[in-house]
Amino acid sequence: MNRIVYLNGHFSDEKDAKISIFDRSFLFSDSVYEVTTVLDGKMIDFDNHMKRLDRSMSELKFPKMLNHDSIKKFHKDLIVKNELKEGIIYLHVSRGVADRSFNFPPKNIDLTVVAFTQEKKLLKNDEVANGIRVMTVEDKRWKRCDIKTTQLLYPSFAKAQASEKGFDDAWMLRDGYISEGTSNNAWIIKSGNILTREADELILNGITRQSVINCAKLLGYKISYKGFTLDDAITADEAFITSATTFVTPVVNINGKQIKDGKPGKFTGQLREEYIKNSLKTAI
Ligand code: PMP
Repeated sequence: MNRIVYLNGHFSDEKDAKISIFDRSFLFSDSVYEVTTVLDGKMIDFDNHMKRLDRSMSELKFPKMLNHDSIKKFHKDLIVKNELKEGIIYLHVSRGVADRSFNFPPKNIDLTVVAFTQEKKLLKNDEVANGIRVMTVEDKRWKRCDIKTTQLLYPSFAKAQASEKGFDDAWMLRDGYISEGTSNNAWIIKSGNILTREADELILNGITRQSVINCAKLLGYKISYKGFTLDDAITADEAFITSATTFVTPVVNINGKQIKDGKPGKFTGQLREEYIKNSLKTAI
């Protein structure tokens, strides 16, 4: 089935949706995005994704903002039109179309807004059953990783490098500390403590991360907002990643060294279950 996609207020067949070659997103990656999970035909954490979208747009000084209710409406329409049960909705907002110039264009140009669905098996897959193996790479991204921009070449490059070497993903290292995965937040559990580094400008504050922090608190776990090194991770009791598409997924091996017995950890499994249960309860 060809997807029905959304572009600037209109729905069309995916092959008919076209944007200008002068779009700032194409020329400068001058755009931000959000990925919202759909489970059982409903969206998870939609409001928090919208808050982060606003933040990304205002940090980049986008002159116009988008109305959350209208975004919700076209997201829901996309779910219905594409009969999406399990997968994601990708939303992309560009500063718009203008003559190529490094300076920001006039404030009155229209934003370009694109959204589409993608089916994906999220609840059950091999990565959850067996855990993933990650490789570390230097974090060479700019220092505003807190803004969810579409400048994703370095993480894509890192993921491809990891994949070529037989790993599932890359964890990025900055100044000796793990910052995050290519498209997920990195966590470890050590001596009963759950560690996630503080959300500063060097990582994206995952919406899933924020929900999992709440789940961990509900389950009575202690959380330390502390950075951890590669050595801390390899000697951890458990490790995992979080993101809208992976939820909570165990990491069992880093750079070829297995974590404990190399099997998905028990607490990671509990957190995943709690996260899915709570998300389904509040899905819209
Ligand atoms: N960090 C990075 C670099 C990401 O790209 C993502 C996912 N886009 C995340 C963390 C996780 O964010 P979320 O939980 O909102 O999907």
